[in-house]
Amino acid sequence: MNYWRMSFRLGSNGVEVWEQCRKQGIAAMGYYYNGEPVVGDCRNITEKEFDAIWRESGVRSRTGKSSLKHVVFHMKEGDVIYAKKGTEIVGKGKIAEEYDYKPGIVKQDGVRWEHYVKVDWNTDFKPFVLDLSANQHTVLKINQERLARIREKEYGTDINLTPDIIDEVASAEEGKKYIREASFRQRNRKLIEQKKANSDYRCEVCGMRYEDVYGEIGKDYIIAHHLEPIGNRDEAAKTTLDDIALVCSNCHDMLHKTNPPMSIEELRTQLYQ
Ligand SMILES: [Zn+2]
Repeated sequence: MNYWRMSFRLGSNGVEVWEQCRKQGIAAMGYYYNGEPVVGDCRNITEKEFDAIWRESGVRSRTGKSSLKHVVFHMKEGDVIYAKKGTEIVGKGKIAEEYDYKPGIVKQDGVRWEHYVKVDWNTDFKPFVLDLSANQHTVLKINQERLARIREKEYGTDINLTPDIIDEVASAEEGKKYIREASFRQRNRKLIEQKKANSDYRCEVCGMRYEDVYGEIGKDYIIAHHLEPIGNRDEAAKTTLDDIALVCSNCHDMLHKTNPPMSIEELRTQLYQ
């Protein structure tokens, strides 16, 4: 699947039709020369024929041509489109139906567009400012590097943006799961930091402090142990400071000798018996 960035403006300073596209559940474009569409109905032509028509029109815009070709031939059902408006990314949606043609599907203040794909636009998308450059492209295929920058803005900078994770966000459902897990990881990390900062870095089982044993290199080192294994949680977001214990590596290993792990108290009892 592919990711696209698309803008919905006539020329660089012209009429903005994003709102209309959003309401109609489409992503549309048109390309005109001397008031006439450069290419008409593309439902039954090949890319080669498209190229020939474009060549004969005498229009030189490469970006116009590639943008329209993306809409006509390359956008597939399930692909994701990010809507660009000025310096902002204002919308995100999934392509529901591939290319179709209808003169005047978008009509507004002199704009009359006819090429479009149907899109399920997210209703709860939060716009953000992001300059991905390549602004001369009405339709831009988003590469991994640009996608990572979008994700960073969309989900927060704390998230590790590996290509695997990016692929996981393929569908809306998976996207939601991803956000849940990412927000859990963020929250979890904050809780662990908070727990450590308010502790003396002493193992809650055996009382050992790394700094006492190893000196400077052991300063502020301790392991965060989840009292309830993370995988067993229904609601990851419910984790609190009380769900985390700080322990040394040895005690951590011993806690996990049983499945489920034994409690801090149990291990302490065994240690001192
Ligand atoms: Zn210990």
